[in-house]
Amino acid sequence: SFLKLSMLLALTGVAMHVSDPDPDPDLDLDLDLATLPLDGRLAFRGISHAARDFGHRFELLPSAVLYPGSVSDIAKIVGHVYRLGRRSLLTVAARGHAHSLQGQAQAPGGIVVHMEALAGQEASVHGADFDESPYVDVSGGELWIDVLRKSLEHGLAPKSWTDYLHLTVGGTLSNAGISGQAFRHGPQISNVRQLEIVTGKGEVLNCSAEENSDLFYGVLGGLGQFGVITRARIVLEPAPKMVKWMRVLYSDFASFTEDQEMLIAAGERTFDYIEGFVIINRTGLLNNWRSSFKPRDPAQASQFDSDGRTLFCLEMTKNYDPDEAETMQQEVEELLSRLRYIPSTLFQSEVPYIEFLDRVHVSEVKLRSQGLWEIPHPWLNLLIPKSRIHEFASGVFGKILKDSSNGPILLYPVNKSKWDDRTSVVIPDEEIFYLVGFLSAPSSVGPDGLEQVLRQNERILQFCDGARIGMKQYLPHYSTQEEWRAHFGDRWEMFKQRKEAYDPLNILAPGQRIFQKQP
Ligand code: FAD
Repeated sequence: SFLKLSMLLALTGVAMHVSDPDPDPDLDLDLDLATLPLDGRLAFRGISHAARDFGHRFELLPSAVLYPGSVSDIAKIVGHVYRLGRRSLLTVAARGHAHSLQGQAQAPGGIVVHMEALAGQEASVHGADFDESPYVDVSGGELWIDVLRKSLEHGLAPKSWTDYLHLTVGGTLSNAGISGQAFRHGPQISNVRQLEIVTGKGEVLNCSAEENSDLFYGVLGGLGQFGVITRARIVLEPAPKMVKWMRVLYSDFASFTEDQEMLIAAGERTFDYIEGFVIINRTGLLNNWRSSFKPRDPAQASQFDSDGRTLFCLEMTKNYDPDEAETMQQEVEELLSRLRYIPSTLFQSEVPYIEFLDRVHVSEVKLRSQGLWEIPHPWLNLLIPKSRIHEFASGVFGKILKDSSNGPILLYPVNKSKWDDRTSVVIPDEEIFYLVGFLSAPSSVGPDGLEQVLRQNERILQFCDGARIGMKQYLPHYSTQEEWRAHFGDRWEMFKQRKEAYDPLNILAPGQRIFQKQP
């Protein structure tokens, strides 16, 4: 049949990878894959999209794409590959919205699972009448924007976010999910109660803090290494209706970070979202692709010119319901009075909650229309301990980086006490640490621009190494196991043991390049 023929062709490619000149004795077994009864389907043609991602720098073609019609389809495929044992080099990668930067959701010669095919199935909100703490059960392939929309129908919303909502639940939970709410609620992985997982052996397991807890914590921040997240139970809260959204500017780094740290330590009486960014030698300070922020006084906002200097923008929001606007305003004024920003640089607007949360999508639509979305994104995200953030800033801003014209540079603190150290994510060993994101999109300057950004990234990493900053990469990318060991440090043994327990043949998420399937 056509299916068999395409599979045969595809697997010939795989066999060539193995550099085994003999006919593969397991080819028949492999061929069975194409004959497995599925609720969805396997595609062998028209699959080149599965070799691309947001980073637009790595392109590795799979042999097939699974469009699952059910969780059991995923279990069947992974289980089948598992039973082939070491005789087959097939791997399986869950592909969420493919907003990875370096091919993490790709499976060279293997099978990519299109997780969004399961989105929309049986999302259910519980506890809307507060007889229990509210939560929503969703598919791992669901986009966060749809989780939000479904929860809002019940007046509820998740607590912890990413800046951009067109990412899947399984994709962000495999990393951490960090945004301006993390200082209060922890990252998204701190706001999950239960998961359903297809392990690397093809078993379907439920897990939570009480049941299969090692798998539960392993998968959270686990870079897709221990299982495919097919369902997740996400904690919800009553959704605010409106958001007061503010930005203020600083010229002094110490005041900027001290104010940020004061705000995240202020318990309940603080803002609901706290982030910040760095502006180096730029005009039009308040506009960047990351946001649809429209201050009430746009003319004044666009006049700001950092004029060769480095400026720091503190961004924060306060949630409110329109009938409590006055109380909110008083609280905001009290908080603002404690900050040391440059007077006359307060910019503000009021928007519905969903508009604030989905802010980056507005820019996406605009950039797409200009052909500026599907371009290389050599992003670099670092976690820097608070005790070294000044040294980092003085070594990097204005020195290694002379301007911020390639894209926004995020910089904001979070607190470790809101992270669970049983999860797999690696963070600096200090109570407060900063997320510093260099979100470069060097479109206007051609291929040289990309090379230059990559060189700058390399210099930043070397600086961190040389000065022993204690930095950890977020959305980490390494190419050798030695580097991964160093990344995990004393957590490496636990990570490896979990791999042996849940994916002993190294079938899952090969694009992370941590473990290699061996013949
Ligand atoms: P993919 O890229 O599809 O997959 C990522 C990894 O997870 C792969 O290894 C894949 O195999 C694995 N995976 C995917 N789905 C599953 C699953 N169901 N089960 C197990 N493993 C799975 N991150 C933040 O924390 N905060 C931000 O504010 C933020 N903003 C962003 C803004 C933009 C514009 C972009 C492009 C990215 C941003 N990110 C942010 C990073 C984002 O969280 C990660 O890239 C995330 O992996 C993207 O989710 P995805 O669904 O596209 O995952």
